[in-house]
Amino acid sequence: MNIHEYQAKAILDKFGVPTPRAEVASTPAEAKEIASRIGGRVVVKAQVHAGGRGKAGGVKLVDSPAMAEEVTASLLGTRLVTKQTGAAGVPIEKVMIAEALDIKDELYISIVVDGDIGAPVVMASTEGGMDIEEVAESTPEKIFRVAGDPLIGLTTYRARDIALALGVPDKSVRATTKLITDLYQVFVENDCSLVEINPLVITEDDQVFALDVKINLEDDALFRHPELAGLRDSNQQDPLEQRADKAGLAYVKLDGGRVGCMVNGAGLAMATMDITKAAGADPANFLDIGGSADQARIEEAFKIIVDDTDVEIILINLFAGIARSDVVAQGIVSAAKETKTAVPMVVAMRGTNAAEGIQILADSGLNITGVPDLAGAAVVLKAKLLELGGSN
Ligand code: GDP
Ligand code: MN
Repeated sequence: MNIHEYQAKAILDKFGVPTPRAEVASTPAEAKEIASRIGGRVVVKAQVHAGGRGKAGGVKLVDSPAMAEEVTASLLGTRLVTKQTGAAGVPIEKVMIAEALDIKDELYISIVVDGDIGAPVVMASTEGGMDIEEVAESTPEKIFRVAGDPLIGLTTYRARDIALALGVPDKSVRATTKLITDLYQVFVENDCSLVEINPLVITEDDQVFALDVKINLEDDALFRHPELAGLRDSNQQDPLEQRADKAGLAYVKLDGGRVGCMVNGAGLAMATMDITKAAGADPANFLDIGGSADQARIEEAFKIIVDDTDVEIILINLFAGIARSDVVAQGIVSAAKETKTAVPMVVAMRGTNAAEGIQILADSGLNITGVPDLAGAAVVLKAKLLELGGSN
């Protein structure tokens, strides 16, 4: 789960990580009031679930409370399109008004879980404020990595190594080391999947601050943090993702494809996408109906896929254990009839009541091909894609 910068900042505050003074505003008048309380120059920052705001006009330095009000009025109610959003952008419903700092140096630091070593890893770079993906691509030697230990955590001396690798001024080393160990606590204690500070700044007077913070919370651990679950902002999500969330379905939109994929299980989703690629097409999305799906959920799952305008053909891959093939087939047929979709479907069904399921599909009179295995589904998919024409 993604959260807003101002929410992430509140978490950092709680863990003692220094951030610039800032408050969130929902109206221009509020922004003006906060700016006068902070005094001097302030930064108006659009609160959206996307990075790259600066380049897209979503982060603006202003000299007075009146200008903070004006800039806030121009941002609120609009949509921000950044490198990380789709063309539709994301709505700006709040701004954060932050004290403007005099920056001497912009650095980068983040923490993610490294699946290969099974531990959180801290990544740091002197190249802050820019796209870290670009740094990783063109100058990977400029990214310094230190793994934490799942049991011991991140020791102070390792945190100090990172501060030294960042080349912070001598008198900032101690504060930077503390910031890094506190940040590691933020990551671990909140079950984060990502904590990213870009930039971490050294000010002209050698103080260190987390100027911009992004936190992703691990969905599967949210049950342990009821206080964090309330931070969800569905308005920032794609409408189809919102519907999937509401129905308890895992839906991931993928760019550039035309095959809608419905599966039961995340591993199966990966295999299904491989099959789709092998058939010469790219998935437009994948939707995981999970283990024990009832008919209403299957119908909603199907409707979400059909409502994705990129989808030209649907591949359904079901390995029925607890979920029964006949129930899924009935869900598909009834949703297909209700939506009157003309999109062709290829359905692989194995496991519980697979034969009954495939029979229901065959009897439906719809453009559905039911097959008993994934390899067969790939062949049918390939043929249907050829019929459809076009590329990819
Ligand atoms: P992002 O573009 O979404 O990553 O938003 P950031 O919060 O990282 O801001 C983008 C850039 O704006 C930063 O890299 C800084 O260069 C600049 N910026 C943000 N806040 C301040 C500030 O307080 N003072 C100065 N001088 N620049 C700032
Ligand atoms: Mn940033």
